Amino acid sequence: MFRPICSRCQRPSGHCLCALIPALDSRTRLLILQHPSEARHALNTARLAALGLCKAELLVGEVFEDLPRLLECPGYRPCLLFPGEQATVLSRYAADDLPLLLVVPDGTWRKARKLLYLNPLLTALPQVTLNNVSASRYRLRKAPEPGALSTIEAIVAALDALEAPQSFSALLRPFEALIDGQIAAMGEAVYQRNHL
Ligand SMILES: [Zn+2]
Repeated sequence: MFRPICSRCQRPSGHCLCALIPALDSRTRLLILQHPSEARHALNTARLAALGLCKAELLVGEVFEDLPRLLECPGYRPCLLFPGEQATVLSRYAADDLPLLLVVPDGTWRKARKLLYLNPLLTALPQVTLNNVSASRYRLRKAPEPGALSTIEAIVAALDALEAPQSFSALLRPFEALIDGQIAAMGEAVYQRNHL
């Protein structure tokens, strides 16, 4: 059976989220690296994040041959969003700081580790992490570890920390609509049983 999908947000046409996707500018550039298995998830939050930010690029793959070229970005400091032992907590830019080229692995930290293994250039990047992560609004997949956020929530938290007082919460609008729609579709009773 043919179900038309929106070519931009890749949702079924009747559930297109494009009207809710903002076009936010930022000082920070983002490079989101997505494993092909994540691209097939109905809740592809990395894609929503990339669509809503002017300075974000999403790449899908396992080995990223183009990485040396992509990381050489004049005027930006490349770093990896990953909670390694040496990671520094993201905080607001000082006036004379070069903005970050923030490389964001999509998916769980386990998948991110695999991505680092397959792309050794990533392991050479300074690592940055988030402070005081609030509870995820991502209620559909039980978070595998405390403080685990969906990719779009992690990106909003990172940009809010770097570029305060600017807020990037508008980026979450299509994500929240998506979650509300999914919960409505599965039925409130089933949701309560499985996710609370
Ligand atoms: Zn759409």
